[in-house]
Amino acid sequence: MSKQILILPGDGIGPEITAEAVKVLELASEKFSLGFELHHDVIGGAAIDRHGVPLADSTLALARKVDAVLLGAVGGPKWDKIERDIRPERGLLKIRSQLGLFGNLRPAILYPQLADASSLKRDIVAGLDILIVRELTGGIYFGSPRGTRELENGERQAYDTLPYSESEIRRIAKVGFEMAQVRGKKLCSVDKANVLASSQLWREVVEQVAQGYPDIELSHMYVDNAAMQLVRAPKQFDVIVTDNMFGDILSDEASMLTGSIGMLPSASLDANGKGMYEPCHGSAPDIAGQGVANPLATILSVSMMLRYSFAQTEAAAAIEQAVSRVLDQGLRTGDIWSEGCKKVGTREMGDAVVAALRNL
Ligand code: NAD
Repeated sequence: MSKQILILPGDGIGPEITAEAVKVLELASEKFSLGFELHHDVIGGAAIDRHGVPLADSTLALARKVDAVLLGAVGGPKWDKIERDIRPERGLLKIRSQLGLFGNLRPAILYPQLADASSLKRDIVAGLDILIVRELTGGIYFGSPRGTRELENGERQAYDTLPYSESEIRRIAKVGFEMAQVRGKKLCSVDKANVLASSQLWREVVEQVAQGYPDIELSHMYVDNAAMQLVRAPKQFDVIVTDNMFGDILSDEASMLTGSIGMLPSASLDANGKGMYEPCHGSAPDIAGQGVANPLATILSVSMMLRYSFAQTEAAAAIEQAVSRVLDQGLRTGDIWSEGCKKVGTREMGDAVVAALRNL
């Protein structure tokens, strides 16, 4: 039976970058005889406009059926003022939690061709290759109770809850250790165990899981220190495992080490390797519709999909190589452009990757 992939472009630059990634996916399917069948649907603001909710039941049902999902990005000013529970981002949180996608892999790799696009000095970032493993379906973004209440003095007070169970921590810790095993064999667990009860349990469980991985060098770091170390000496890290909110923030910070958030893919996996693949960045409303967004993060998300959901290592590596060739040719979208390079738009960049992949 053919492998089914659901494409959810989303909002803002989502449809523009996803269109380029789909071209690459279709070519990879043809070139490596993967026989993928693609389905298309809406999520986020586009789904609110069509169905009144950011994730329709029919879309969720389709997402459950397919083998992998490719997502652009959701959100934008048009939907910023609507009720919190049906905002575009809720659709994203819902699909992640409903599909049980608890393991978010966010690589921060600096392509040597882009060393000058980083805001840090070349020697600090050259050769950077970090993987952030972020817990994605628990913690403060999902915890209850949450809300706003009125205090006795009439003032409003807002509150959130940060819960983590042992099993939630154990399964994400395992992902961290397993990723470290196929990389540099170093795992840094990031928490705030000096202040938070959830972090104290996190650290305890990570220590227990470590017993099963004696080949991995485990360290612990408080999140404030980790934020500092990431800009001071980022190459000290191999794999970082952390909770949902800390991972959200640290992975954006790590992305800037590489020059642009427009270069960074991500994978969100369930316990069986089914995954949703999306760029780390948002829907970039400030540049939406202009044809200038960088599609490479989404194209590299396709490569992660081939590697993690379909075990097509050769096809995945070919896409990465095609991206590298295009950077070698000096083609750059605005976000990664530097003196002496040729500035191109979203479609030209996608076409160049397709051409490079075809010629490999
Ligand atoms: P953003 O990532 O969309 O944009 C931040 C900056 O990076 C902007 O200046 C943008 O132009 C630039 N940028 C992002 N992607 C780019 C690309 N591919 N090429 C070139 N430049 C790029 O973050 P934001 O501005 O904080 O959020 C905008 C909207 O996206 C909000 O509605 C937010 O809720 C949503 N959002 C969605 C996701 C997601 O869908 N996974 C993630 C983050 C933010």
